[in-house]
Amino acid sequence: MALDPGAYAPVPTDLIVRAPKVLLHDHLDGGLRPASIVELAAEVGYDGLPTTDPADLARWFTAASTSGSLERYLETFAHTLAVTQTSAALARVARECALDLALDGVVYAEVRFAPELHTQRGLTEPEIVEAVLAGFAEGEAAAAEAGHAIRVGVLLTAMRTATHSRSIAELAIAYRDRGVVGFDIAGAEAGYPPTRHLDAFEYLRRENAHFTIHAGEAFGLPSIWEAIQWCGADRLGHGVRIIDDITVDAAGVAHLGRLAAYVRDRRIPLEMCPTSNVQTGAADSIATHPIGLLRDLGFRVTVNTDNRLMSDTSMSKEMALLSEAFGYGLDDLQWFTVNAMKSAFVPFDERLDVINERIKPGYAELRAVLAERMTDRP
Ligand SMILES: [Zn+2]
Repeated sequence: MALDPGAYAPVPTDLIVRAPKVLLHDHLDGGLRPASIVELAAEVGYDGLPTTDPADLARWFTAASTSGSLERYLETFAHTLAVTQTSAALARVARECALDLALDGVVYAEVRFAPELHTQRGLTEPEIVEAVLAGFAEGEAAAAEAGHAIRVGVLLTAMRTATHSRSIAELAIAYRDRGVVGFDIAGAEAGYPPTRHLDAFEYLRRENAHFTIHAGEAFGLPSIWEAIQWCGADRLGHGVRIIDDITVDAAGVAHLGRLAAYVRDRRIPLEMCPTSNVQTGAADSIATHPIGLLRDLGFRVTVNTDNRLMSDTSMSKEMALLSEAFGYGLDDLQWFTVNAMKSAFVPFDERLDVINERIKPGYAELRAVLAERMTDRP
């Protein structure tokens, strides 16, 4: 019997790393290299780190993020933000981010950050955006030179607990032809509904701009409903709680409520981050993550990292976990990847280009490699 290399699972790790991947939800301040944090802390005279040994620091970040304590989780960002308050530091972490993603096989990424969190040492918000864009451009050039071409688009994030969203939205528009491809709101969800920032979203829609909203992670359906029906979000950050509007009956048949049906019918992309969702309690485990059911039901599901440092993860690790838990083969991983690229905020022709020139040929090659390995077996 011939085995189908596109369905074979779990997909070998080396092939997952080689597979072209697309990332839509990744926070710049959640993806610093531990060694860079130590070096940057020394440069700026920040002595608040729990340890200056990079390996210990990496372990501390994951331990604090999995502790179940929100205070400890938020403390992790206090450190990454403390060391990214200068143009040089911002450019460095952006350059390293682009390189790390490219070496992990990511061919297109949208990375987000909140300018308002980097003003502690007097940088203006435009200076912050320019430093990050310059860093990404350097990272893209270095990655291409190393044979791992990547395109990075920037999303500007406004903190939902603050009142800066309109000015951040204006900044996103000011820089939209220079690498900023969209806007987002993030931060504590409960008590801070998306409609608090309606002014920013209405402005972006008048400007024909794209945005995503963190919704349906810590908080349920009302947050998702507001993000879509009041604010007009193009995509949902996480959106895991859409599962609350789906019931599966005794016969195993799924029934969608009106909101879940709307999200699926309109092909609204869900930026799911499996490991992060387990850490924050939005999902109980990878094996029971709603991504399995949502994928079976044909929702526009995408796979993402959220905070690579805090979750000790990468796109390859997330894909490997899903391949292991749900038996996803290369065909499934390609489906997630094409979903993500279709949902990107760059123009349609650029999306098609990545799908047709990078993703499809990349996966075809990997299916051939796997087919060869299968026939080599005794
Ligand atoms: Zn996020």
